[in-house]
Amino acid sequence: MQNLAEIITAADIETDNQPVVQKSQENGECSVCGGSGFILRPDGQAEICRCYTERRMQQLFRAARLQPALQKMTFAQFDLANYPANMPAPDGKGRTYYELAREALTKMRSCCDKAIAAGQHRGQAPRGLLLLGQVGSGKTHLAAAAANYLLRNRQRVLFLVVPDFLDELRGAFSGLEDEVRHLQEQAKRVPVLILDDLGSHNFSDWTRSVLFSILNYRMNECLTTIATTNLDFVSLQELLGTRSLSRLLSLCEPCLLASDRDIRLRGLEKA
Ligand SMILES: [Zn+2]
Repeated sequence: MQNLAEIITAADIETDNQPVVQKSQENGECSVCGGSGFILRPDGQAEICRCYTERRMQQLFRAARLQPALQKMTFAQFDLANYPANMPAPDGKGRTYYELAREALTKMRSCCDKAIAAGQHRGQAPRGLLLLGQVGSGKTHLAAAAANYLLRNRQRVLFLVVPDFLDELRGAFSGLEDEVRHLQEQAKRVPVLILDDLGSHNFSDWTRSVLFSILNYRMNECLTTIATTNLDFVSLQELLGTRSLSRLLSLCEPCLLASDRDIRLRGLEKA
């Protein structure tokens, strides 16, 4: 039987420094535990209350910054029927759209399972994926599904839409707050970082330098990184620079996800 400290440590899935039990006492809204976050049983053992687990899950989701629409996306909803099984995809080396999509889905799930198994053990985190493909090929769905899967398995994730993230940071340099600086630090240190839409932003020395510092840190610390991009390797090298691209490829296995047309528009046609 675990003691209370072990139970709390095991359930402690987010990094803010406030003691969790104290926090729940402040709120004091749970009728089961009276807000303490744990239940003392008649045999003298303690167990974590459901309210604690739910609150931690909410904190994890908030910290991940996944937009509400993306919080609904799952691996199960990633519909392979959207990818033609009888047409070879351009640059797919003879493989069909369907085969590429199935491989991307399998690899993404496997990457997430390895990240969950590695947990907080430094040095065991798996290499992520770099999903390449045109607009509307399902990359963001797959990346968001990975985020949700990891979060539901209590992993710390940060999901950044890269153009928005760079805009926020730029705002910070014209006088906004520590919070945004903190976000940049989080992007370096979070166990799993997901960079959505890498490359769909203006490139300047400053954006290159921000992205390089994040990728470089994560490569040195062996932290799992997943990215999606509409760009091909030639454009990535040209725009991101060789140093960043080499780090990106060290962090991520490239994986083509192509579709014969925009899946989001297809969804609208069906509706
Ligand atoms: Zn409770």
